Amino acid sequence: MIIRDASFHLLLSSLSSIRCHAEDEQPDTEVVPPNPRLKTLIHRKRKQAHAPSNNAPKNRHDLYADELEKLTIGRIPEAAADMIPEGEVILTINIYYPAVYEKFNYVRPHMTLLMTGSHSLAELRDGICCVSDLQVCGEFSKTPNTALHFISQDHFKSAFFFFEGVFYNDMRFAECQDISMTTIEWAKAHNFPTFRQAKMEDTRFVDLRVKVGFPYLYCHQGDCEHLVIITDVRLVHKNDCLDKKLYPLLTHKHRSLTQKCAICHVFIGRWYTTNDEFAPSDPCLFCEKCFLMLHYDHEGNKLGEFLAFPYVDRAAFN
Ligand SMILES: [Zn+2]
Ligand SMILES: [Zn+2]
Repeated sequence: MIIRDASFHLLLSSLSSIRCHAEDEQPDTEVVPPNPRLKTLIHRKRKQAHAPSNNAPKNRHDLYADELEKLTIGRIPEAAADMIPEGEVILTINIYYPAVYEKFNYVRPHMTLLMTGSHSLAELRDGICCVSDLQVCGEFSKTPNTALHFISQDHFKSAFFFFEGVFYNDMRFAECQDISMTTIEWAKAHNFPTFRQAKMEDTRFVDLRVKVGFPYLYCHQGDCEHLVIITDVRLVHKNDCLDKKLYPLLTHKHRSLTQKCAICHVFIGRWYTTNDEFAPSDPCLFCEKCFLMLHYDHEGNKLGEFLAFPYVDRAAFN
C-alpha cells in the first residue's frame, strides 16, 4: 500500500514536470520554456542554441542542391511559350556510372534528371554529363597548349540509347555514325531477334514504349555504357518547374572526391606524367600550374624527359 502511494505520488509529480505551461493555456510547440526541467526540452534548448553554427558547415553540395530546389520548384517561365502545358508527362530518369568504374557500381545513380514527354532523346543525351566525353587522348608533353583541341566529344559524336529492342542513334551531326550496326549484325548472325533502329533526335519520350524500373542502355564514346532507368512517369503538377527551357532538370547528382595535385595538394589534377625525372611518383598527378612550372621554362620549352597526358577528374564537374 505504501509502495503504491509512493508510485502514485511519483506519477503526479512527473506529470506536472512534463507540463511547461499553465493548465488552461494552449502550448506553442515551437517555443521551449526558459527553464525547462524535462530532459528532452533541455536537450532541445541546447540544440536550438547551436542551430546557426550547426547549419553553417552544411557542405557546399547540399547547399547547391537546396539552391537548385529553391530555383526550380513551382517556377513559371518568363515567356508563355515556354510554359509546360497542363496534362504534360514528367519522367524521372536515373543515369548510372559506366560499368567500368567498378567502385561506383553499387552507389546511387550518378545523376537523376527530369524530362517532359515532349522532349527528345537527343535532349536527354545532351543533359548527361560523363567524364569520357571530355577525355583527351594522347601524349602532349611537347605541346601542352594544344591538348584542348582534342576533347573526345568534339570528335566522336556517335551515341545511342537502347529501349525495348530499338537502338536510338544520335545522327544530328555529319560525323555521327550508326554505332548500333555492329550489334545488330552480330545479333542477326547469331539468330537473335532482330533489333530496330531510329534516330534519337526524332524520338520524343511520349513516342517511346518503355517499362518503368527496367534497366536500359546509353552508350557513347564507343564503349562507355551507362544504365538508364526510368523510375517514374507522372503528370505535371503546379509545384513542378514549369519552365520548359530548364529541362533536362537535374535533381540529384552523385558527388565524388577530387584527385588533388601531388605537389600543392590544393588544386584538382589536370595532367599526369610517366617516366618523369622530376616527379615523386610514377605516374604522378599535377595541377595545371605545378605541371607547367616544373616541366617548362619561361618560354614554354620542355625541360627534361617525361610523357604528359591530360587528366580529366570525374569530380571536377561536381
Ligand atoms: Zn559515359
Ligand atoms: Zn599543384
